[in-house]
Amino acid sequence: MNRFSDRVVLITGGGSGLGRAAAVRLATEGAKLALVDISESGLADSVSAISEVVPNVDILTVVADVSQEEDVDRYVSETVARFGRIDGFFNNAGIEGKQNRTENYTAAEFDKVLAINLRGVFLGLEKVLKVMHEQGSGMVVNTASVGGIRGIGNQSGYAAAKHGVVGLTRNSGVEYAEFGIRINAIAPGAIWTPMVENSMKQLDAEDPRGAAQQFIQGNPTKRFGEAPEIAAVVAFLLSDDASYVNATVLPIDGGQSYKY
Ligand code: NAD
Repeated sequence: MNRFSDRVVLITGGGSGLGRAAAVRLATEGAKLALVDISESGLADSVSAISEVVPNVDILTVVADVSQEEDVDRYVSETVARFGRIDGFFNNAGIEGKQNRTENYTAAEFDKVLAINLRGVFLGLEKVLKVMHEQGSGMVVNTASVGGIRGIGNQSGYAAAKHGVVGLTRNSGVEYAEFGIRINAIAPGAIWTPMVENSMKQLDAEDPRGAAQQFIQGNPTKRFGEAPEIAAVVAFLLSDDASYVNATVLPIDGGQSYKY
């Protein structure tokens, strides 16, 4: 499939996990890529990972903090300067934050998680939608979470931010469809990425995989999702195959969020 020939896709959080997996997948389908991350080494590793699978992909990397407005202005303007357009936007960068019961969560942690996971997503939408509106086309996928549609516990900031991402998706989705722009969100469940591994290290530094077992017992599939399984859905939503899918939130969790 070459659904992304001559298309430009911008990915935040492109230096790890789901962002990197999406970049690899989209490269195999012909996309030109702009990868944004706060981690320069993560971006370099993503470029290597892509090159191993698809040689000679046109890739721009931008080190930026998605919670800072001037950084968002910069990653958007550098992408437009390099490629002239933005066809797809995977608005994905995020952190999990420290896990704690609400009474111990702290306002500082709440503000930190909201700044990246919600403000960062809004700023990306604000700046990228301006470009897409002018060009009269575009597809956006925001990364929410099962924690944005269900209560998980010990994640006040993460829950507030991801529920907020769902709200931003529905709000902007209904605003922009008449301009040829679709905006959807994914709600991944437990996907084995560095984020989850680090989170499990909070429970058991020695054996994060072992600590993780308790979280998949209740999953109908009895396993974690893998990043390429998310990337395939992101590619679908960013492609013309999803031409009538808009303002929706798609759980990708093996059915866990529907289980009684
Ligand atoms: P990850 O930690 O592997 O990747 C996240 C990337 O975002 C990292 O490269 C990190 O450097 C980058 N990043 C963090 N803060 C940033 C900032 N301020 N500016 C720019 N980049 C920043 O995690 P992942 O699992 O790939 O997570 C990607 C997204 O998926 C996140 O929004 C996360 O909340 C969401 N998510 C993940 C899971 C899961 O199980 N892995 C489940 C639901 C939702």
